[in-house]
Amino acid sequence: MKLVLATHNAHKVVEVEQILAKLGVADLSVLGYDGPEPVEDGITFAENALIKARAAYAHTGVAAIADDSGLAVEVLGGAPGIFSARWSGTRDNAKNRELLLAQLADVKPEHRAASFVCTIALVDGENEITFTGIWAGRVAFAEAGPNGFGYDPIFIPEGLELTAAELEPEVKNALSHRAAALEQLASYLKHL
Ligand code: IMP
Repeated sequence: MKLVLATHNAHKVVEVEQILAKLGVADLSVLGYDGPEPVEDGITFAENALIKARAAYAHTGVAAIADDSGLAVEVLGGAPGIFSARWSGTRDNAKNRELLLAQLADVKPEHRAASFVCTIALVDGENEITFTGIWAGRVAFAEAGPNGFGYDPIFIPEGLELTAAELEPEVKNALSHRAAALEQLASYLKHL
């Protein structure tokens, strides 16, 4: 079985293929997508993931998956949410974290709940399905940890006293929102 992953990131293609293989989805090859990028003008993670998967399916004719993800902070009504990648007006992760920490500077520890969300959409010409993984936690008061990317240095997963950037990559990849969404996709593919 072939799946196109709507990303220009070759590293992500290998990673998704490996994770799905580990989850027991056999005989699957994940291909990168090098076609036109659609405008992501949805207002939910699911809408944006579907927009990307539909574009990749339309361009290739092969069943396509795409993901959209971000950090939803409760006290900010779910922001940055779908705007996570450009929260400070740029794609600079350090600036995005700095702005979020400043916005939450006066928010007490018990009101700093946040969740990473990842929605994966699958579009194959007959079905359009989304799978959503959530990683609950809270926003730290300061950055810590060298690993990961994006908001990892300021996200403390529930049940831990470390940030996601202080976790070993294998540990993060077993707990994360992306892993949870991929697990759901894997069990769907296995039952096809
Ligand atoms: P996109 O889904 O690639 O458009 O980007 C989502 C944005 O959400 C990223 O640029 C990060 O800022 C943030 N994000 C999503 N997943 C993670 C994660 O696992 N760790 C840290 N930040 C994340």
